[in-house]
Amino acid sequence: MAYFALTNPSATLARGIENILIKGENSGSMLEKAACAVLSRLISVTVFPVFLGLELVLKRIPKALAALRFSSIPQPNNAPSQFQKSTDKIKKFALGIFFSPLGIRSPDGISSFFLKTPPSDSTIRPFGVELQYGKNVNKVQYPKSVKQLQNIIRKAKKENKQVSVIGAGMSQGPQTVPASSNHVVIHTKHLNKVEIQKNRNIAKVGAGATWEQVQIAANQQGKSVIVKQASDVFSIGGSIGINCHGWAHEYGAIASTVESVQIIDAEGNLKTLTPKDELFGCLFGTLGYFGVIVSVQLKLTDNEHLVEKTKTVSLDQFHTHYQTMIKGQGIPLFGGRLNLDCLEGNPLRSVEMVTYERDLEANAAEKKPVITKNFMAESSRGTRMERIGLQLVAHLSSFSVKKILSYFWKTERARLQTQSKFTRNEALHPPIKAFNMFRPSNLHTQWLQEYFIKPENLPDFLRFWGQN
Ligand SMILES: Cc1cc2nc3c(=O)[nH]c(=O)nc-3n(C[C@H](O)[C@H](O)[C@H](O)COP(=O)(O)OP(=O)(O)OC[C@H]3O[C@@H](n4cnc5c(N)ncnc54)[C@H](O)[C@@H]3O)c2cc1C
Repeated sequence: MAYFALTNPSATLARGIENILIKGENSGSMLEKAACAVLSRLISVTVFPVFLGLELVLKRIPKALAALRFSSIPQPNNAPSQFQKSTDKIKKFALGIFFSPLGIRSPDGISSFFLKTPPSDSTIRPFGVELQYGKNVNKVQYPKSVKQLQNIIRKAKKENKQVSVIGAGMSQGPQTVPASSNHVVIHTKHLNKVEIQKNRNIAKVGAGATWEQVQIAANQQGKSVIVKQASDVFSIGGSIGINCHGWAHEYGAIASTVESVQIIDAEGNLKTLTPKDELFGCLFGTLGYFGVIVSVQLKLTDNEHLVEKTKTVSLDQFHTHYQTMIKGQGIPLFGGRLNLDCLEGNPLRSVEMVTYERDLEANAAEKKPVITKNFMAESSRGTRMERIGLQLVAHLSSFSVKKILSYFWKTERARLQTQSKFTRNEALHPPIKAFNMFRPSNLHTQWLQEYFIKPENLPDFLRFWGQN
């Protein structure tokens, strides 16, 4: 901890500012609240920029200079070089110093960009509920092979310990957290091998691989995954654990696109299951209770050119429009986007029916396989502008947030009308990782709420939320 504070002074002070704010928010005493408000502001506009300046001069600039001599070495998948990463950090620190006076308005408005969690292999922090469900355990284990995983499970069985499995750890609940800190926790991130069998339209993927990793490998062969969540950050094991669904509306949940699964059962035995096996169906949506998934054979489809089309419908028209105009019409991907404007009426008052339809001309003009150029991993925390946008939403007054949301929605709606062209892989790779900026924060987060509603109840349900 002391080493972390010494090597990351700005992150440590940012945590201090956040802790003062949390103390103030939780306090019942007006005096203490006022003291915390004043102290956090004072630190953020005086001491914090000094820390940023010191870290910039003593750590960030020397690091960039050290990386300079490797700057011309090309990186795999166009990833930024260490030098580019270091210069970007310098920009971040310079911007932090320049904008630090904004700490008067919002004490952690700038400092929360610098929060970090010390690396640890004994802490579980499920996304968005890090404080509520996070736990320190004896050790998180990172097996690199099936053999290692089998040994861990056999040992757990012998010692009568519960086994918890983490994929990408994005489920916003305690699903990946063991009941007791001396139970066994397995992180699958190293079981991430991806092999594309182009001629069979199959991807053989390790359970810890993320959709982004699978999509990048599939794209190189002109292929694309079928059912996944809207975003790419989730692991394949975790996606089966909750039986995910997404924009491939004709397929339903992921189960229909899985050809076989390799699991390790509670005895430590490796088994291959296909839809013919009774246990196969038990694996989907059961949070890992029936075995640890090691690898999966996923069906693939061709990557192809698509056109994004949008039609605005009222809440009452939603279901009929979907049934008559979208379902069964050969439309590969569909999502309904709810109106977010809250200045000209209640939000959620209408739906943009966004379909991704086959671009017949472009598909005919390009020979298969269609390989999307420059298809690469999203940066681990999104773009700076996305992070700033999220911070604004987290820190401004509710009126300003409404204005920003309305502006965003109008711009987004206008863009949706332009019939943009995408490949299937691009459409299935929307940016999301800016949300990771909230991972180290104990004060701000983003929660996903999912509801499963009967079609006839949907309009009233949305009207209720829009009014409240
Ligand atoms: C911003 C956001 C957007 C989302 N969008 C969608 C969406 O569009 N569609 C949708 O369906 N869901 C969506 N979700 C929910 C998401 O799909 C689930 O939370 C999913 O489980 C996350 O995957 P993960 O790899 O992080 O799983 P984890 O949180 O790591 O694990 C989830 C469960 O699966 C188990 N598990 C993980 N790996 C294995 C394994 N190898 N073997 C056995 N069990 C395992 C875990 O023990 C746990 O019970 C979204 C969630 C968020 C936060």
